[in-house]
Amino acid sequence: MKILVCISVVPDTTSKISFKDNNTKFNSDGVQFIINPYDEMALTRALEIVEQINGTVTVINVGLADTETNIRKALAIGATDAVRINAEPKDAMFVATQISNYAKNENYDLIFTGRESIDHNGGIVCGLIAEILGLPSINIVSKLETDGTKVTATRDIDGGREELECKIPCVVSAQKDLSEPRIPNMRGIMAARTKPLKIVEATSENELNTLVSFELPPAKTGVKMIDAENAGELLDLLRNEKKLI
Ligand SMILES: Cc1cc2nc3c(=O)[nH]c(=O)nc-3n(C[C@H](O)[C@H](O)[C@H](O)COP(=O)(O)OP(=O)(O)OC[C@H]3O[C@@H](n4cnc5c(N)ncnc54)[C@H](O)[C@@H]3O)c2cc1C
Repeated sequence: MKILVCISVVPDTTSKISFKDNNTKFNSDGVQFIINPYDEMALTRALEIVEQINGTVTVINVGLADTETNIRKALAIGATDAVRINAEPKDAMFVATQISNYAKNENYDLIFTGRESIDHNGGIVCGLIAEILGLPSINIVSKLETDGTKVTATRDIDGGREELECKIPCVVSAQKDLSEPRIPNMRGIMAARTKPLKIVEATSENELNTLVSFELPPAKTGVKMIDAENAGELLDLLRNEKKLI
């Protein structure tokens, strides 16, 4: 089975977020970047599948050279090889088009994305890739089994779960619970140094969205502690100050 896992590289969840150039650019100074957590889950599930039924797992990223540390991490976790499309990921359509342009001649059985990137939170790349390649897709999948001819996917829905079947090739986006991400071991880290990482130049595409500005949410106000015995004061604050009840 030939699997492609799309990985985006995002700021670590503990990063202090700030912007520069009049709030038009993300300030990456001092920020540590990680593989998007949903993509790590997709990667682990892809590895589990090829361990069961054989195959290869390729990771792909649209990004500049600074994403290679995280691409190597994906190789250390166990991916067979990697592709970096050498371009700044300008918008979701750009990213999906670059990935699709690469994938269309490679005959992947299964393409994984995460359900969303935890920085720009678009949640759209999975559907766009499927549309561009003319493939079926299943979004936000928390369990996935395959026998190599079809996938059986479980999705959480309001108040329950649903199970869907889909013939391969298809595109699937990963939700938490899909797998338990793996930590690279020393053998994996050593092996990753020599695994193939192909760099492909991007095709020129028009930018559809232009980022105008960023804005931080209002700073959180301090926590007001209320004595456990003083329920009246709590009710008064909720009713008269916060107007929540
Ligand atoms: C320097 C910079 C400038 C940007 N400028 C703009 C702009 O002008 N307008 C704009 O709309 N956006 C801009 N972006 C955001 C960028 O377009 C997003 O990375 C892109 O839209 C995908 O993020 P998303 O939240 O839409 O992806 P989602 O749809 O939330 O991502 C879902 C999944 O798609 C895959 N994926 C997402 N991104 C990548 C990637 N780069 N490589 C491989 N797989 C990926 C991952 O599997 C991810 O889990 C900019 C980003 C950067 C870093």
